[in-house]
Amino acid sequence: MTLSTFSFPTTILFGAGAIGELPKQLAKRGVLRPLLVTDASLARTSVFERVAELVPAAAVYSGVEPNPTERNVLDGVARYRESNCDGIVGLGGGSPLDAAKAIRLKVTHEAPLAEYDDLLDGGNRISANLPPYIAVATTSGTGSEVSRSAVVTIEATNRKTVIFSPNLIPSLALSDPELTVGMPPHITSGTGMDAFTHNVEAYLSKGYHPVCDAIALAGAKLVWQNLPHVMDAPGDLDARSNMMMASMMGAIAFQKGLGAVHSLAHPLSSDCGMHHGTSNAVLLPVVLDFNRSVAAERLDDLAALFGGGDPAERVRELNRRVGIAPRLRDWGVKEEILPKLADKAILDGCHQLNPRPCSREDLLALYRAAY
Ligand SMILES: [Zn+2]
Repeated sequence: MTLSTFSFPTTILFGAGAIGELPKQLAKRGVLRPLLVTDASLARTSVFERVAELVPAAAVYSGVEPNPTERNVLDGVARYRESNCDGIVGLGGGSPLDAAKAIRLKVTHEAPLAEYDDLLDGGNRISANLPPYIAVATTSGTGSEVSRSAVVTIEATNRKTVIFSPNLIPSLALSDPELTVGMPPHITSGTGMDAFTHNVEAYLSKGYHPVCDAIALAGAKLVWQNLPHVMDAPGDLDARSNMMMASMMGAIAFQKGLGAVHSLAHPLSSDCGMHHGTSNAVLLPVVLDFNRSVAAERLDDLAALFGGGDPAERVRELNRRVGIAPRLRDWGVKEEILPKLADKAILDGCHQLNPRPCSREDLLALYRAAY
């Protein structure tokens, strides 16, 4: 048997109204002047105003792009230094929360960002000498607030680069479902299906990890039960709480691994501009069908959570229920580009833990099946 590491160390302060604790939590960590990191669209919302009012001494960096770049990180670091900041608050979805992680890294680590690339074992160069970081999520999807990785596009290679280290885990995830109530419906459904896919792929991924498996099953069930409900009743705080918890459970569970859905989804975002969670939602049913020959028992476990039947069909139903069009062609993807997407997907690391091995031809066939 191979050796396994089990590690669940993120501190989470969770519940409606938790954001009110922000000043106290910063003071507790000795932070007098935080850098508040967010993106331009969130900076125009009442959620941003509410948080900014709680930290009047904060400097603001709101330039994070939807797919964060090295330039965003360096601009954030410059703002941190010129404002004499002593800690970081990340506010938003996965992009600002990831960018904030990388800004936090770069204020104490001098080497170029590319040298911390996980593919080069860059995590070994990341020490615990980092300023305090409180992560405040405004979506229920990526779970970046509890995870130990950041994804940033490096300028020299124009490649989405994963930086991974236990030291990158936020000092605190401050998780307040009230902040997710105002999300536009297509963001609620897309991010919700991302959380769902994290739980489902983690459960199916290769490897021995019964702790993650249990979390993944419970997380998938929470999404199944609550996502349709928040689409109908966006202000329901109990359902919003369950979605926020499910997204954190997904991110905790996928330290076990993900699968082919994520490898197929990544090029759809970088080359076709599709939303990450929406891409996952469209691809998940065809990958479940593909995995059936090697993971029948685990697929039955999932189907049981959804009230029985064929799990791929049940996921198609969930997509319909939350208003996600089922085919890639519905999202403006051109058929001619599929071979190029398959070339990229095979280079993505996520499918290596898919229960059934995938060749480039398999990945292309999956794109065609979802087309
Ligand atoms: Zn994802």
